[in-house]
Amino acid sequence: QNDMPPPYLDGLNEPQRDAVLATEGPVLVLAGAGTGKTRVLTTRLGHLMATGRAAPWNILAVTFTNKAAKEMQERVARVIGRPVEGMWIGTFHSICVRILRKHAELVGIQSNFTILDTDDQIRLLKQLIQAENIDDKRWPARALAGLIDRWKNKALTPERVPEGESYAYANGLGGKLYAAYQERLKILNAADFGDLLMHCITLFQSHPDVLKEYHNQFRYILVDEYQDTNVAQYLWLRLLSQASKNICCVGDDDQSIYGWRGAEVGNILKFSTDFPGATVVRLEQNYRSTGHILAAASSLITSNEGRLGKTLWTDAGEGEKVTVKGVWDGPEEARSICEEIENLHSKQHALSEIAILVRTGFQMREFEERLITLGIPYRVVGGPRFYERAEIRDVMAYLRVIAQPDDALAFERIVNVPKRGLGTASIQKVHALAQSHGVSLPYAARMIGGMDILRPAARNKLSSLMDDFDRWRAMLHTHSHVEVTEMMLEESGYMEMWQNDKSPDAPGKLENVKEMVSAMGEFENLGGYLEHIALVMENDNNDTREKVSLMTLHGAKGLEFDTVFLPGWEEGLFPNQRALDETGVKGLEEERRLAYVGITRAKQKANIYFAGNRQVFGQWQSSLPSRFIDELPADHIEMESNQGLYGNQRQSRGGWGDDFSDEGYYTSGGDKYGPGWQRAQTWRQEQQSFDQRPRRSAPPTITVKPSKPKKKTPA
Ligand code: ATP
Ligand code: MG
Repeated sequence: QNDMPPPYLDGLNEPQRDAVLATEGPVLVLAGAGTGKTRVLTTRLGHLMATGRAAPWNILAVTFTNKAAKEMQERVARVIGRPVEGMWIGTFHSICVRILRKHAELVGIQSNFTILDTDDQIRLLKQLIQAENIDDKRWPARALAGLIDRWKNKALTPERVPEGESYAYANGLGGKLYAAYQERLKILNAADFGDLLMHCITLFQSHPDVLKEYHNQFRYILVDEYQDTNVAQYLWLRLLSQASKNICCVGDDDQSIYGWRGAEVGNILKFSTDFPGATVVRLEQNYRSTGHILAAASSLITSNEGRLGKTLWTDAGEGEKVTVKGVWDGPEEARSICEEIENLHSKQHALSEIAILVRTGFQMREFEERLITLGIPYRVVGGPRFYERAEIRDVMAYLRVIAQPDDALAFERIVNVPKRGLGTASIQKVHALAQSHGVSLPYAARMIGGMDILRPAARNKLSSLMDDFDRWRAMLHTHSHVEVTEMMLEESGYMEMWQNDKSPDAPGKLENVKEMVSAMGEFENLGGYLEHIALVMENDNNDTREKVSLMTLHGAKGLEFDTVFLPGWEEGLFPNQRALDETGVKGLEEERRLAYVGITRAKQKANIYFAGNRQVFGQWQSSLPSRFIDELPADHIEMESNQGLYGNQRQSRGGWGDDFSDEGYYTSGGDKYGPGWQRAQTWRQEQQSFDQRPRRSAPPTITVKPSKPKKKTPA
């Protein structure tokens, strides 16, 4: 034995070290962005193993994304100097699936249950809604899906839904439909995402022996991004940590950005009460960003109320100021950013250290196209993904039907794709038969072959399709799942359907399907592949070139890059109008936290952009710079525009004002820019009522056109 501290503790500051070494009892690390919370968690994991306190499987580590789980795995291997197997690192969902596959029967499903995505969920709910004769125009299935999700986030089973809350849908039928939905899921042997946690909680609560098993196994629990856990996740953690009490959570209340999805920032605020005797560690040194970046972000977030408040400092030097650049419109923004990336790349900046972080998924397309044009490799992280494309969903449905013969939703999706003369009317009849006999839709489809219900043509088609499914399913025993898939897609006519399709995007669709089939080879069998898809919606791992990352601000949480581009800082887009409409001040503050998350991803340089005109879903609109730009501290930012006018103005005045109109194309209002402009003005005034508190700089009463139109002014 010697007294030398182990090498993995080297370089940690004192509070970080304390957090690593406080292995027993509850620990909360509550600290701002980039202070090393995740690093503490990883080191702690390594420490627990290196000191023999725990075997890999005795530790449960929960991350927010699958990507983060993978990174943590790698970082741990580095801490203890060798790869480690058997650790339980993953998202809440993936860990719950792992547990449920073992004990599904105890909660009324079978271990090979299907995980439904939102699309399936909606389809299923629609059927239930129609069965109740509810007008689904007035009460859309999506609304019910949202409501059910919210209940599940709060771990409310149908029996526990407060009666009043049922009235949020169809005059009080919400709860009833929720119960019916859960019943249907059981019959389908399926679970939606919310169920994964709910079933686990039910399992633990109703089977203490099973819970005890996990108590014995998970002696240490670690949770990253704790500020974004919801009630169900909190309950789940509580149940699992009950016996050992060794739970370490890290997080930052200023980075709570999933309130809209049911996250409760309250979880982190009341940690000490929930877990009595907790050690609370604060970290103040930021190791990620240079001074101006940190100052800009820290100052912005002070506009929020009800924060715990923290001090952050860095010894990394001032670095470069945050630039704020105004451009004429969306396409110019994409051009400008991508050119800048090209420029950086030519100066040897690694593309993997560059990210474009957008507020909303639709903003990505423009950048994708531009990056493709310039031949800059990029990855889309999270977001609207490959696996959400229609053609990919079709193929998935085929695969599900052969993997799980009773998967009615998958069956319904592709029964008439390609067209086989099995239209809605025919399928309705199959539905009726299924219902009257209490069997699944595919089962009824098989039965109907020997009955007189369908017209002969349809009946024959359906029977031969069912035979085909059986044949392909049987082939899984003799052929690889990739071969079976290829054969199935050929023989079913699915590939042919796209080959014959003359629409411009058909070739792309074919390519996507091919890409998907080739990716399946990485999995041992079909089951493994389907599970992977259901859980991991992150694509790309074949192309090993360095890439620019393109993702939403939400997806960027916890990550860091040398250079970060933050486009679309415009009122309505960011802060996002829907967030404001739905939750007012709360929504605005969450948007501001999102801005804080965005800026603090940057290590060396943050570039904020706004465009004067933006095409949103086909409509050109004039836009106003985001109020968040007004809230940035003048000393730490640099204004830029094509003509440099914008920056000069700002400098000479030291703040925002309403006298830009001298320039001719700056104006404080009026109808100069048409109805869109005025609408935006009015809109902004309305939004301001949300935010009456005094501001650091003058209220943003002016609107700015960054440059003269280069081309025809959009209507
Ligand atoms: P976020 O709030 O964004 O999730 P975080 O608090 O989890 O941030 P980390 O990602 O763990 O912060 O750390 C930020 C950066 O600082 C990382 O590059 C990390 O390696 C580095 N870092 C953390 N602690 C130290 C330290 N003691 N010495 C040097 N670098 C450190
Ligand atoms: Mg982190």
